[in-house]
Amino acid sequence: MFFSRHPLLIGLQRNVITLAVGFSAVFLMAGNANAQRFNKVVIDPGHGGQDPGSSHFGVAEKKLALDLAERLQKVLKKKGVPAILTRTDDTYVELTKRAEMANTSKDTLFVSLHFNAHKDRSVTGIETFYYPGSPEGRVLGTYIQSELSRRIATKNRGVKPNNLKVLAKTKGTAVLVECGFISNRWECQRSASAWFRQILAEEIAQGIMRYR
Ligand SMILES: [Zn+2]
Repeated sequence: MFFSRHPLLIGLQRNVITLAVGFSAVFLMAGNANAQRFNKVVIDPGHGGQDPGSSHFGVAEKKLALDLAERLQKVLKKKGVPAILTRTDDTYVELTKRAEMANTSKDTLFVSLHFNAHKDRSVTGIETFYYPGSPEGRVLGTYIQSELSRRIATKNRGVKPNNLKVLAKTKGTAVLVECGFISNRWECQRSASAWFRQILAEEIAQGIMRYR
């Protein structure tokens, strides 16, 4: 009986230490409540100029991407987040140049916007990519993907690592969102509608704000 008290005491001490560590973690987090993970967003409308991206049913990816980027910029500005675009018209900007725009300061997010295509026209869904080995990219991508898939009825293709050049060249947190397959008649029709791109913009913004 006497000896059995010792392990019990040790157990209690351990609990006290765990509690103390737990409390300081809470205080540290509270102290950092105002520290934000980013202060600016670089929005990258995919393709442009001589590079139309995917093109189906008379709809070009580059046009959808630019319109979506402008909408996202407006939504973010309303939320108090400054955002700039890597291109503001129908011109092609080199991928490294796009990434460089986000590399000028550490507290900048990079969000590239695309629409997808597949030779099998039945393929649908939304997916988000981050650079392999970037935990921050994975977190941001998860927030954006979960907001989009909660609101939009389509296949949730998930958040995946992908060694895409534009992500590889970005030093900070970066994601690339594929907002649906324009090779699929239904998703193309929807993506070509302003109301739908507004929903995309709002949900992507919501995901970005969750990351903040
Ligand atoms: Zn694309």
